[in-house]
Amino acid sequence: MTGEKLVLLGLSANDLESFAVDFGQPAFRGRQLYDWLYAKGARELGEITVLPKEWRSYLKKRNVEIGRLKEVERFVALDETTKLLLGTSDGENIETVGIPTKHRLTVCVSTQVGCSMGCHFCATGKEGLQRSLATHEIVDQVLSVREVMERRPSHIVFMGMGEPLLNIDSVLSAISCLNTDLGIGQRRITVSTVGVPHTLPKLAELALERLGRAQFTLAISLHAPNQELREKLIPVAKTYPIKKLLEDCKHYLNVTGRRVSFEYILLGELNDHREQAHQLADLVSGFQSHVNLIPYNPIQEEQFTRPSLERIKAFQAVLESHGIAVSLRSSRGLDQDAACGQLRRQHAKSS
Ligand code: SAH
Ligand code: SF4
Repeated sequence: MTGEKLVLLGLSANDLESFAVDFGQPAFRGRQLYDWLYAKGARELGEITVLPKEWRSYLKKRNVEIGRLKEVERFVALDETTKLLLGTSDGENIETVGIPTKHRLTVCVSTQVGCSMGCHFCATGKEGLQRSLATHEIVDQVLSVREVMERRPSHIVFMGMGEPLLNIDSVLSAISCLNTDLGIGQRRITVSTVGVPHTLPKLAELALERLGRAQFTLAISLHAPNQELREKLIPVAKTYPIKKLLEDCKHYLNVTGRRVSFEYILLGELNDHREQAHQLADLVSGFQSHVNLIPYNPIQEEQFTRPSLERIKAFQAVLESHGIAVSLRSSRGLDQDAACGQLRRQHAKSS
């Protein structure tokens, strides 16, 4: 029997109970599925031996599947940062990274295969967009990292491949699932965006509607202290001026009550001058915000450089002198090309 594929991962406990009933079983079978999907991390229906064998065969015939991704490659850095290349059912590959510290395991998830935004410093942007990911493909990344690293992820950052605001629907469903079904608090989830015109108000509205509250952190990839430079680094900046982007951030803050934070990749001799730090401070000063400085990870084809630690510290000090909270992202797993999108590109070239 053929028919459309039905994927279970991403469904809530209620959804799974209804599913069980619709497919001829008592509701408690849905609860069993729920436990095996999320708590036990089952990959195939065949593993869920508490379910009657005949029902499992029936579900397979009806094209029901869990929807897990396959591990294609794994790289473990000296500091145990673990990068996974995961394969989708239609043959695409996506990257996900587990970043461990003593008290945290942060998973950096992808939201799309590739990215259409084409930011010049970004390896993912070089390949263009293949497609957006479905909810189960986002949730799987967290389960895959949990399985491989044998540890429960505590924090999620939507900072892998792709632009979350071009896939809002699946991103919000995934947040809901991570929150409710995997027990990761919304405040431990960060969604990073370069900014897409007209989408921030929609994100705020849909988050409140679908999640009940928007408590995750919104991080804006600013990367430049003025419009002129930002346009040179980020093509979409031409149609979405910084002024409008910051207005939309204010609106987001008013609607959700959550402060936004700003990300700033430091590119040597390009956006890391002291005057630029003062300019950046002026831009974000009305936000009581947080700035996350990210030293550039070199990618092929581009001439950008990573500033010296001295310059990075000087930039940080200027921001702090304006009373801005600043964090500096430490380099993790750099021994194997940490820049997002690099692993997938290397794999594509070698196969
Ligand atoms: N599209 C979203 C989320 C994915 S990119 C966004 O742009 O915010 C996630 C983060 O990785 C962004 O802050 C991005 O600027 C950063 N990044 C991309 N390429 C990088 C590089 N070569 N070195 C350091 N950070 C990079
Ligand atoms: Fe896309 Fe973000 Fe990379 Fe820009 S930085 S190309 S928006 S993934």
